[in-house]
Amino acid sequence: MLTKKVIVLDSSAFIAGFDPFSIKDEVYSVPLVKMELKDSMVLFRFETALSNGTLKVVIPLEEFVERVVEASKKTGDYRSLSNADIQVLALALQLKNEGKTAVVVTDDYSIQNVASQLGLEFAPLATFGIKFHLDWLLYCPACKRKYPADYKRRECETCGTVLKRKPLKKRIIGKKKQN
Ligand SMILES: [Zn+2]
Repeated sequence: MLTKKVIVLDSSAFIAGFDPFSIKDEVYSVPLVKMELKDSMVLFRFETALSNGTLKVVIPLEEFVERVVEASKKTGDYRSLSNADIQVLALALQLKNEGKTAVVVTDDYSIQNVASQLGLEFAPLATFGIKFHLDWLLYCPACKRKYPADYKRRECETCGTVLKRKPLKKRIIGKKKQN
């Protein structure tokens, strides 16, 4: 049976320059992702895609949010997920429940990890030929200790919490026209 493929974008996807107009699949995100977008060009792209119907922004049902929280506690990623991350995963789970194949587009390790736990597909940004390279800040969400980007372990040396990455800034790699 053929299932419909849909894309769910997290904050890092928008920040890295993912363009909802560039693919044919249905593209979804959640309201809290918009709150995490600080750059005006990124916000503009989000708003434009939303207003012409290319991007669908949906608040996931509570039951799916609860399942994501439960799964993330099991994997140890709960404290590394923002509320936006949890909504993204919950929406993907909800769409899967509706019979769609939801692919979460993210470079965030915690989101990828919980997606696996939930049996959701995910794809790193490179899959879509993103021309931006994100510089990540690696930090402990519990004790706030910062780590070098190439730090190899998943857990904080001090308190054992699963580390969180957040996009620090983006650099253009290769040639890309202005937004
Ligand atoms: Zn720590």
